[in-house]
Amino acid sequence: MTFQTFLLKYGEIGIKGKNRHLFEDALVRQVRYALKDLDGEFEVHKSQARIYVDCEGAYDSDEVIERLQTVFGLVGICPVVRKADQGFEQLKKDVVAFMDEMYPDKNITFKVEARRSRKSYPLNSMEINCKAGEAVLDAFPEIRVDVHKPDVLLHIEVRNEIYIYSQIIPGPGGMPVGTNGKAMLLLSGGIDSPVAGYMISKRGVGLEATYFHAPPYTSERAKQKVVDLAAIVARYAGPIKLNVVNFTDIQLYIYDQCPHDELTIIMRRYMMKIAQHFAEESGCLGLITGESIGQVASQTMQSLAATNEVCTMPVYRPLIGFDKQEIVEVSEKIGTYGTSIQPFEDCCTIFVAKHPVTKPNINIIKKSEEKLAEKIDELVQTAIDTVEVIEVRRS
Ligand code: ATP
Ligand code: MG
Repeated sequence: MTFQTFLLKYGEIGIKGKNRHLFEDALVRQVRYALKDLDGEFEVHKSQARIYVDCEGAYDSDEVIERLQTVFGLVGICPVVRKADQGFEQLKKDVVAFMDEMYPDKNITFKVEARRSRKSYPLNSMEINCKAGEAVLDAFPEIRVDVHKPDVLLHIEVRNEIYIYSQIIPGPGGMPVGTNGKAMLLLSGGIDSPVAGYMISKRGVGLEATYFHAPPYTSERAKQKVVDLAAIVARYAGPIKLNVVNFTDIQLYIYDQCPHDELTIIMRRYMMKIAQHFAEESGCLGLITGESIGQVASQTMQSLAATNEVCTMPVYRPLIGFDKQEIVEVSEKIGTYGTSIQPFEDCCTIFVAKHPVTKPNINIIKKSEEKLAEKIDELVQTAIDTVEVIEVRRS
């Protein structure tokens, strides 16, 4: 079935009072962004606490729905058959044709719910309910009316044209991107960090990302995998500015100077510092990581405390209480899993100690870091100065 309009429903939370138009405008912007490169023309407009997408040209309804399902803030997507108003007799025919095509099996109950946005229409909502309902009953003897719990709630909305719909496809929920500032995602090639970015973005937060690359220990393909993951997350979060930092010299220097069982923690502290530098520079209000308590040695409560100690801005760890399986489920749902499990090393896996500390003592770690005094500031500065910036768009 081809639909000419999509009626978009959004939640009530966070849209009360003065913020309402900000929320709606951001949502309209995100809907336009989601549909921008599709075939067809889309007129997105808001009216009476709803958003409508009127479609023209050679568009594909399924593709439009798929894209709308990536727009945070939408709770429901209703595909609408839109007809010119050619009088009530024609409206009845259109409604009957709609029911016939949408529900080949007529062993269902239904109820008509009319809404007359154009008050000059000759029938009121009650009259439309009764007469359109009657027309459906006359056309299909098996169909029954159930006013309390109908299988199908058939909406007829009289605007300038007539809108007919009955389906509500769930949207992703959340808040429109852009209503809650921006944060810096530490994005690796693993399963967790893309999911973490998705979850924070779902609350209306725009994303930038930083990836620490260690050529030649990590390959170009490992970097490409991170770009690919950012492009998948960008389907939901909007375009992502990705900073690719060459971390090799810092890693080698830490490797040479510090106890190997502390390598990961010290490296993670430098990653946080550098990511924070870029975050501050571009107006991000926090950092995001894919850490989860106890998942690996560098994510025990003590390790997290040691990593966190270098951060002056809030660090958001949306997966902190998730089991791996729960994270995998989200990554499958959002489409990053298949890319995340491609077997290219990310930079952490090269320099891992056989027996990393699991309960690092912050004073001992700081003592070890003193051994880096001679060159580390210069190496960090070089890493910052040589950053490669990639503007990642949705894939
Ligand atoms: P992931 O699946 O996200 O890679 P992980 O289970 O491999 O996570 P760690 O390697 O300990 O866990 O990394 C914890 C977090 O640190 C990651 O979720 C990510 O946010 C960040 N991180 C780790 N390595 C990198 C990297 N090379 N570049 C950017 N961020 C990284
Ligand atoms: Mg990792």
